[in-house]
Amino acid sequence: MTVRDDNRRLHADVLVVGSGAGGAPTAAILAESGLDVLVVEEGPLVRQGDVVAFSLEQMDRQYRAGGVTAALGFPSIAYTEGCCAGGGTEVNSGLYRRPPEEVLDRWRTERRLVDFAGADLDSICDEVERELSVQTVPGAHIPASEALRAGAAALGWRHDESPRWMTYAAGPDARQGRRRSMTETYLPRAEAAGARLETDVRVDRLVRDGARARRAEVTRRDGGRGTVDFDHVVVCGGAIQTPALLQRSGLRHRIGGSLAVHPTVKLAARFPDAVNVADDVPVHQVKEFAPDLSFGGSASGPGLVALALSDSWVRFRDAVENWQDMAVYYAAITSEGRGRVVALPGVRDPVVTYRLTRRDRALLGRGLARLALLLLRAGATAVYPSYRGAPVVRTEADLATLQGTFSASRASVMTVHLCSTVPFGEDERSATDSYGLVRGTTNIHVNDAALLPDAPGVNPQASVMAVAIRNARHLAATIGFPSRG
Ligand SMILES: Cc1cc2nc3c(=O)[nH]c(=O)nc-3n(C[C@H](O)[C@H](O)[C@H](O)COP(=O)(O)OP(=O)(O)OC[C@H]3O[C@@H](n4cnc5c(N)ncnc54)[C@H](O)[C@@H]3O)c2cc1C
Repeated sequence: MTVRDDNRRLHADVLVVGSGAGGAPTAAILAESGLDVLVVEEGPLVRQGDVVAFSLEQMDRQYRAGGVTAALGFPSIAYTEGCCAGGGTEVNSGLYRRPPEEVLDRWRTERRLVDFAGADLDSICDEVERELSVQTVPGAHIPASEALRAGAAALGWRHDESPRWMTYAAGPDARQGRRRSMTETYLPRAEAAGARLETDVRVDRLVRDGARARRAEVTRRDGGRGTVDFDHVVVCGGAIQTPALLQRSGLRHRIGGSLAVHPTVKLAARFPDAVNVADDVPVHQVKEFAPDLSFGGSASGPGLVALALSDSWVRFRDAVENWQDMAVYYAAITSEGRGRVVALPGVRDPVVTYRLTRRDRALLGRGLARLALLLLRAGATAVYPSYRGAPVVRTEADLATLQGTFSASRASVMTVHLCSTVPFGEDERSATDSYGLVRGTTNIHVNDAALLPDAPGVNPQASVMAVAIRNARHLAATIGFPSRG
């Protein structure tokens, strides 16, 4: 394989950069249409089951920078990205939400997207749901999920169970689920159709000849370098890395300036009995205040419980001894703020910034207070909010103190939903056309979360995949069967 050999040059009809929710289906569709496809993935191949799900070891092996990445701001927002074969789909919670109809309508009208019928995207979602075995838990829910459901029911708040891309062993134990991530679905499909997958190889830069990119310069994990020649390149590195690669390749127009995320704040709740299941996450979500606010459960291994307590560690640290009785929950908002991704010359990682608006900051505080109320109603005996100076909330009377002392600038705000840095459409803000072809270029395409015009207000992977499959089909039909000469 050429990228393993510095002296040979590799050629592919289509180079796909990144193998996550955008890249894997793109590779499968292009390969199945007869094109010669090479997928280059920066991270390693880690098979499902080789690491414990939601563990610190998983963060170390499958997250970019071990999960320690932040968008600078006031406050800074910690974010995480998958960096492995399959990208974020290998490490995420697997919670599946179709893009809401009103979101698709908004994107179509505001971005003047052509050929973007809701019915077509719905039928792609049907396909994805079959391919990924999207389903609800057949057996009992984990206690931390059941608590969320019970609290919402007690308050009469709208809630439901999010289906997941999982298969479950027969029997009542919901923990036997196996994630239908990209390494289990679209990547094997792509390889069966002849696509080649190269892991541990990073694309540093696309070399352009005016509007046309000819070649990618790549670096292997062991430091060796190589090049890949191609007819078309589809960049699917995710909403942070995709604009960074385009900028390193000299493309900056409308690229990287409109990062959108779902900011979240967290708390740890303690119950009278054991609720903690370290290797699974709750599946219930509370949608009473959606789309502005939604509540759900997070991974809650002992290390993550400690992290949730760490903002007020001196006062909260004793609680960690009872981590088996505790679980971590989040309040997520749809944000009016926006951020930027800027690649700096000579620096490997881009600088990321994000600015929450005044309304965003207030909404985070309201969300945290309502989430604490819900957990008290679910039977929590103590709630530990994740901001510096937070009170322990033991009764509803303590909620006033929470609201009075909350400040977003003292909170551990984080996000795992990153979108919109290379938005598609036909309006003056769009960086690509309606199918992801980067403006001013003839063969550089984007096909990942960077294209979504804003954060969809629901878990985004289904939106990323539906858009990617639509665009890949268009590309396959457009470029047909190029000569292999
Ligand atoms: C912890 C976590 C939990 C989440 N939970 C959910 C959930 O429950 N439901 C949901 O819908 N969404 C969830 N998400 C979000 C979801 O995973 C993402 O929206 C989705 O994976 C984005 O797809 P993508 O193709 O844009 O990027 P990714 O899936 O991140 O794939 C990008 C890939 O490109 C590779 N890459 C980047 N740059 C380069 C380069 N220069 N050269 C080579 N390779 C490169 C990366 O290593 C990565 O593997 C979660 C995300 C995380 C991190």
